[in-house]
Amino acid sequence: RAKDTGRNRYQFYTEELTQRAQERLMTESRLRQAIRDKAFVLHYQPIYTKGEDGGAPSIFSCECLIRWQQDDGSLIYPDLFIPCAEETGLIIPIGEWVLDHACAQLAEWDARLPDNTLSMAVNISARHFCDANFVMTVHEVLKRHAIAPARLIIEITENAVMDRMDIAIPTLETLVRTGVRIALDDFGTGHSSLAKLKTLPIHALKIDREFVKDIPDSTDDMQLAASIIRMAQGLHLQTVAEGVETQEQYDFLAQAGCDKFQGYLLSRPVTAEKIYTLLAASAELATA
Ligand code: C2E
Ligand code: MG
Ligand code: MG
Ligand code: MG
Repeated sequence: RAKDTGRNRYQFYTEELTQRAQERLMTESRLRQAIRDKAFVLHYQPIYTKGEDGGAPSIFSCECLIRWQQDDGSLIYPDLFIPCAEETGLIIPIGEWVLDHACAQLAEWDARLPDNTLSMAVNISARHFCDANFVMTVHEVLKRHAIAPARLIIEITENAVMDRMDIAIPTLETLVRTGVRIALDDFGTGHSSLAKLKTLPIHALKIDREFVKDIPDSTDDMQLAASIIRMAQGLHLQTVAEGVETQEQYDFLAQAGCDKFQGYLLSRPVTAEKIYTLLAASAELATA
């Protein structure tokens, strides 16, 4: 009996594997086609700084988030295809498209809004970041669209850096020397040691939503979030809270000294046109 069960399980396992391999193959060839067709779109989520003297928060930057547009107009979210893109190496052409498109978008907003100072945050996968051509790609894109390097923020996850310190550190150093800014994404979920963190040439830590979502119910998470903020202050790093959904979360984090805020409370990711409207409205407010 035990043998039977074993065999059945084995068969089931291989069938499942085959199915998964087929599914992946399908996504891979569809992803290749999508790259050729440029079937992606970027949504932008504003990141806000605390309002001065109790005023309303104002937009400091926005993070571009990729979506894959289907023939029927529906969108596939990155968690469903970025892993496949990373495994197959397709993340490099996709990442290049994202960088180019995001900078082109920033240049277009600049042309319509003369005093625009918005920064753009772009997520870069480890595999792309560690690619030998990455730094050159960044410089070319910035030049092509005449974007000052300091307006580009590269978001890279904590583990991407920690797992490949040998490649990551020189890459970070070159980028930072030319003025590009770096944010460590999903901070707190990875395995940084403080000793390594302190040596990194970076500008900001993005506190993962994991530590934000249960505020104020979880006093542990409140302590952890506050500790991350204090630690970042000690290292002269900015903090950005991800996934801020409630006023209570915002108030707690602001009071704990967090610098910047991102989340559904302030704005969901929106289209480029919507960002333009938000920017135009705040420019008008400033001159009013
Ligand atoms: P991430 O960089 O940590 O981005 C934050 C994710 O949280 C986004 O999901 C965003 O829509 C979502 N989010 C923002 N505010 C809230 C909130 O208040 N509540 C909740 N529940 N969620 C919130 P999205 O757009 O589905 O992206 C998921 C992940 O996919 C990103 O996580 C990032 O790791 C990756 N990704 C997105 N765009 C790109 C890209 O262009 N290139 C690469 N390599 N990865 C990308
Ligand atoms: Mg990010
Ligand atoms: Mg994040
Ligand atoms: Mg995250």
